[in-house]
Amino acid sequence: METQLIFLGAPGSGKGTQATRLENNKGYHHISTGDLLRSEIKKQSDLGIRVKQIVDSGGLVDDGIVLSLLKLNCDTKRYSYIFDGFPRNLEQAKSLDHQVLQGVDTKVVYFELKTDILIDRLKNRRTCSKCNEIYNLVTSPPKVENTCDKCGSVGLVQRLDDQPEVVKKRMEVFENTINPVLEYYDQKGLLVKVNAAEEVEAVYGEILKGIEDC
Ligand code: AMP
Repeated sequence: METQLIFLGAPGSGKGTQATRLENNKGYHHISTGDLLRSEIKKQSDLGIRVKQIVDSGGLVDDGIVLSLLKLNCDTKRYSYIFDGFPRNLEQAKSLDHQVLQGVDTKVVYFELKTDILIDRLKNRRTCSKCNEIYNLVTSPPKVENTCDKCGSVGLVQRLDDQPEVVKKRMEVFENTINPVLEYYDQKGLLVKVNAAEEVEAVYGEILKGIEDC
């Protein structure tokens, strides 16, 4: 059985950036339900067509749909994952436990960050539409303007749901649903909190220490 990590935090708190580092350095597999949904939307699959409007407007997709998509894309018996963007509410946390993790060693990292910093980060966030690499135009811009350092594609895009009015809605959704999830994992003794306002390297160090000590 492999150790599994769950990353919890508001949009823009740095979960994706840190997951990529852990994936490159420690062999975890990064699974982001947001990326899975965006990929379905891009393919214009039946599921993608069904969820597009919800994702674009910052609402939450039906728990069952996201759980099925997650289950189709992970094999926790063989690999260690970082679950990013799932669970979003208490029901999802319980389903993840009962239907996916089923007692495997799990640690949960919560990225703590103030809302004003989050909003500023999302304003400057750009994503490679091909490989999903994340950039911040101020703190971690690409080496060549508008070009992905990782895969070389030209054209870094701002996600539709990173537009200010949608960001506001996503923050509200996050704040209304996260506390019971945090309590759930805290009671199980699995929760590690990191200060996500720090530099990328410092946050990475905190995560490594936290998951070793937990
Ligand atoms: P993210 O990339 O994690 O910020 O997710 C982008 C969008 O995908 C969210 O605003 C939701 O519309 C949808 N989404 C991602 N994960 C979930 C989830 N676990 N449950 C419901 N909707 C989700």
